[in-house]
Amino acid sequence: MRVHHLNCGTMRPLGGKLIDRRPGLFRRATMVCHCLLLETGTGLVLVETGMGTPAAVDRNAWLGAGFVRRSNPIADPARTAVAQIRALGFDPADVRDIVLTHLDLDHAGGLIDFPWARVHVYAEELRAFTDPRDDERGRYRRIQFAHGPQWTSYADTGEPWFGFGAVRQLDGLPPEILLIPLSGHTRGHAGVAVDTGHGWLLNAGDSYFFHGQVAAAPHCPPGLNWFEGRMETVKGARLDNHRRLRQLVQEHGDEVSVFAAHDETEFLRLSTRSSV
Ligand SMILES: [Zn+2]
Repeated sequence: MRVHHLNCGTMRPLGGKLIDRRPGLFRRATMVCHCLLLETGTGLVLVETGMGTPAAVDRNAWLGAGFVRRSNPIADPARTAVAQIRALGFDPADVRDIVLTHLDLDHAGGLIDFPWARVHVYAEELRAFTDPRDDERGRYRRIQFAHGPQWTSYADTGEPWFGFGAVRQLDGLPPEILLIPLSGHTRGHAGVAVDTGHGWLLNAGDSYFFHGQVAAAPHCPPGLNWFEGRMETVKGARLDNHRRLRQLVQEHGDEVSVFAAHDETEFLRLSTRSSV
C-alpha cells in the first residue's frame, strides 16, 4: 500500500513555546492537520479531511469566529485535501472512502469536498453529533454536515491489536485499515491504524497533542496541556489513552509509528520518509 502524508491545514495559535516548546513566547506556534491518503487495491482512502475548501474562502462562517481567533488557521486553498490530491495527479472522484477519528471541525471540515465518499466513523461519535449532551452542544459545526455525508458507523468491538481492547475491520475496505477505540477527547474518538506492508501507522487523532506525551519521560508544553484538558469529553479515558499509547510507542515503536493529528514534529518526521 502506498501512503501519502498530507498536512491539510496549518494553524498558528498564539503562545509560542507554551504550545510547541520551541524558543520564544511572543510568537505564533505551528500546528498541522495530519491526514493520510492511502492507495489501496480498492481505490483511494482518505484518513481525516482537514478543514475543507470553504475554510479557505470564509473561515469564520465555516469554522466559527471563536475557533478562528484562538487557532488562527491559515486560509490556503492549495492546502486542502482535495487540492493536494489533485496536485498528486489523482482524481478526487476516486476517493471512495474516508475514515475519521472524530467529527471536530478540523478533522471533518473537508467532507464537503468528497460528498460521494462513504464516511467511516464510530457509532458513538455519530451519537454525540446527532444527540449531544449539554457539554457537547455547539462542539460540532452543523454547517459542515449539511450536505448529508454517507455515514458507515461501527460499534467499538472487535479483536485485540497491540494491547488495545477492540478493533473493527471496515466495511468494503482492505483488512489493513482498522479503527482503534480511543474515547476521551470526544466520546466516540478513534485511532486509525494502517498496515502499510512496511510497518504499522497509527493516526491517534486528538487522543494526544504533543510528541513528548508518548515519550519515555512524558512532557507537554503547559499551554497545550491546558487546551487539551479544556477540549476533553472523558478525562480518565483521555489520560489512560496517554498511558496506553506511551506503552505502545515504548514497547512496539519499531513496529508501529504513532502520530497525533496536530503535532508538526511527527508530521515532518513521517512525511519526509514517506512509506512506499
Ligand atoms: Zn483536532
